[in-house]
Amino acid sequence: MRRLLAISVAVIAISTAPAAQMGPDGKKGKPGRFDAYPTKPYCSVCLRKKKIDGPARSGRLMERDAQIVLDDIGSKRLVYIETEDFKLVSTIPGCRLSPSTAPRLLEELPKLRERFPRVKGKYPKLDGHQFAHLLALHMHRCKLEFWEIFGTRASSYSGYMNRKAKHEIYLFGRQRDYDRFTDRFTGKAANGGQEIILRNDDAIGFARPPPDRGGPNTWNNAVIHMWAHLLLECQIRNGFNMPSWLDAGFAHWFERRESTETNTYCFSESRNVGEFRGSSWRSRVRRLVLTNRAPNFAEFSEIRDLSSLGGIEHGISFSLVDYILAEHRVGLRKFLRELGRAKQLQHNATFKRAFGRSVPAFFEEWKAWVKKAYRGR
Ligand SMILES: [Zn+2]
Ligand SMILES: [Zn+2]
Repeated sequence: MRRLLAISVAVIAISTAPAAQMGPDGKKGKPGRFDAYPTKPYCSVCLRKKKIDGPARSGRLMERDAQIVLDDIGSKRLVYIETEDFKLVSTIPGCRLSPSTAPRLLEELPKLRERFPRVKGKYPKLDGHQFAHLLALHMHRCKLEFWEIFGTRASSYSGYMNRKAKHEIYLFGRQRDYDRFTDRFTGKAANGGQEIILRNDDAIGFARPPPDRGGPNTWNNAVIHMWAHLLLECQIRNGFNMPSWLDAGFAHWFERRESTETNTYCFSESRNVGEFRGSSWRSRVRRLVLTNRAPNFAEFSEIRDLSSLGGIEHGISFSLVDYILAEHRVGLRKFLRELGRAKQLQHNATFKRAFGRSVPAFFEEWKAWVKKAYRGR
């Protein structure tokens, strides 16, 4: 029996800002552990074109026979890729890569060429099928990097909430297809992205087409943002204990490492979308700290409803995660472990045990770090 455990309706608002080429850490992305890449994912289009076949697919989507779901989408552009880790269904159009394409995405090209040797040049034009493979490769790398942060591997994850099962990601190239699909399979006509968690199967994410129809960076940012939300949820084991600052902060951090050109706000994330709209979040955070206008962490640390997190808090949450990933990774692992075990979220006590200082003390240390680390950003 199918039962929706939790449905959150999301609004993905993507704002555009002047392009910035580097990741938010100012460094070029380092390749992940490529050796662990899935080399032969199943792909419906590759199979049809008799290119490469992969391992047997699960045959299930939306907890139904996959074919029913794929037939319902019925797009000529339909691509269904299933790797060892996740399922990606896409109807997004092709695109041309360019010098302004996120460097981390460009780094997947050699891997893409193993499947498509005829994709030549530094900035090739990709059809929708090839672009879906590129995104799948990149999602996989991000997942490996995520596991690296937490010192985990595939066997670390168990069933249900910890999502050993494969995630399903749906990317729709046309708003119409998106609306029809979400209406049909979730009973909700949504004007934004959705995340659905089914009882016995996977967490399922939808990304609607970006308003500007999306170049590679817009799609990549939207996908990686959603992916970070889904991966973090597995990490915490108990999604109900997820503090919003951590949830939003992680998604923004992962997204902004790709490209700072667009910012994704999904799941009705912000009361006030647009406070952090531009490309230079770090300098904005630093200005807020220097002028004493940064909202007090203690006042929003316990919020568990993403839509109650304000626009400025999104920027601060991004920076708190930035600080934690730079300085407090051991504390972070402990924090998530404890959050997952707790029956009820006692945020501040858990935080103190994990990070060895109270929320207010941590906030003061973060401010001192921001002043130094973000100088000249
Ligand atoms: Zn394929
Ligand atoms: Zn989000």
